[in-house]
Amino acid sequence: MEATTVATAVSVTAWMREASAAVAAEADHLTQLDSAIGDGDHGVNMTRGFTAVVEAVDGSEEPPGKQLILAGKTLVSKVGGASGPLWGTALRRAGRAVGSAEALEGAQLVEALSAGLAGVVELGAAEPGDKTMVDALAPAILALRAALEEGAPLDAAVGAAADAAEAGARATVPMQARKGRASYLGERSVGHQDPGATSTAVIVRALGRALVPAG
Ligand code: ADP
Ligand code: MG
Repeated sequence: MEATTVATAVSVTAWMREASAAVAAEADHLTQLDSAIGDGDHGVNMTRGFTAVVEAVDGSEEPPGKQLILAGKTLVSKVGGASGPLWGTALRRAGRAVGSAEALEGAQLVEALSAGLAGVVELGAAEPGDKTMVDALAPAILALRAALEEGAPLDAAVGAAADAAEAGARATVPMQARKGRASYLGERSVGHQDPGATSTAVIVRALGRALVPAG
């Protein structure tokens, strides 16, 4: 009988590769969303940033925390728009939270993403409901933590997190933007989905394709 392997950890290099591919595949859509309430560069920004991240971390044998820090630094240096520093800070903080752990398992993933979210909020001061990436990332973390606490396996928990991120992104449609470029539009930002929340859901969904046995 074949041994079954259970995926209990996230491979950071696989996550960055999957995120990069998914962001590139969604680039036109992200740009379209950003053209409606921003300056139309979000798809290009995210694609450029994550392409550089993959080049930086691919083949790396470093522990996951160090890889996340490198990914974050790369985003900060390669992306000019708001999303570069925001996602860059998120991944750097996530990496610091993981520390020298050998594997990024469920509990550390919750800690890492929570630290990343705290970094985003510290830098950008967005609250839930301000129509930003926080509206996708915050519910994703809540769903991930809740699923793991209920004893769900990591793949199911990560799936629940991605569902929550997508629902969070859709929920930005009726919101009025209070942070970032879209806030300049005031009430005219209502009726459009936030590009950063949308790409955040794409990146969280990519986690589900980056799961490996912890070893
Ligand atoms: P820019 O707005 O500089 O052109 P991008 O288009 O790459 O940058 O990213 C826009 C996204 O960044 C928004 O859709 C929003 O989700 C996110 N964002 C902007 N400002 C903030 C903030 N202060 N806090 C959290 N997220 C923000
Ligand atoms: Mg933009």
